[in-house]
Amino acid sequence: MGKKTTHKFKAEVSQLLDILVHSLYTNKEIFLRELISNASDALEKVRFKSTADGVEDEIAPEIRISSDKDAGTITITDTGVGMTRDELMRNIGTIAHSGTAELTRMAQEGADSLDALIGRFGVGFYSVYMVASEVTVTTRSIEPDAVPISWVSDGRTDYKLQELDPESVENLPRGTRIEVKLNEDMVSQFANDAALKNIVNKHSNFINFPIFVGEEQV
Ligand code: ADP
Ligand code: MG
Repeated sequence: MGKKTTHKFKAEVSQLLDILVHSLYTNKEIFLRELISNASDALEKVRFKSTADGVEDEIAPEIRISSDKDAGTITITDTGVGMTRDELMRNIGTIAHSGTAELTRMAQEGADSLDALIGRFGVGFYSVYMVASEVTVTTRSIEPDAVPISWVSDGRTDYKLQELDPESVENLPRGTRIEVKLNEDMVSQFANDAALKNIVNKHSNFINFPIFVGEEQV
């Protein structure tokens, strides 16, 4: 295991997270749509790359969702492109999308629903903090010899990065796993497969890759 390093969120990201964490917005299930959409984007990039390189990919493209009621967690795993350390730092936490400040202002004014704003401004990942007390992202890039890395944060002020022993994540040959530790009051609503299947069917039925909830394909 590599050394753990701590990194502060960029100010705009912190502000947005603060809004999401304290949101009274009730349609919190859309966080799953956003995580699935990111997984699908990552799988699309692999498909594009293997078509361009003319090589067949031996890892099946898929999105797997599981839940653990006792642990109060949901896990979303994809076999997409994954992220290198630099990509992880850049994409989550360090660089705010250009719309982040604007979204924060509009959310504070209550002009539009948070759902519409999250969709419009492309800040999907952070919406997980409407339901999560902690999120762990474990990712292994498609880049040759990429070192797997983990990102952990409670969504308040900072996140921690750590390089992992490849053997410790053998079950992630490539791609990204997002473990969502649910807020206590969200566990009964989300940490069960039947509820997750419903949400997938409602918000993610247009996704072009197989989605499994538990062992069952949705
Ligand atoms: P957007 O999807 O609009 O770019 P998000 O906040 O949803 O915004 O995601 C931010 C970025 O984080 C993505 O653009 C992507 O680079 C990276 N990312 C998030 N989830 C994944 C994933 N499952 N696999 C690979 N990269 C991801
Ligand atoms: Mg997204």
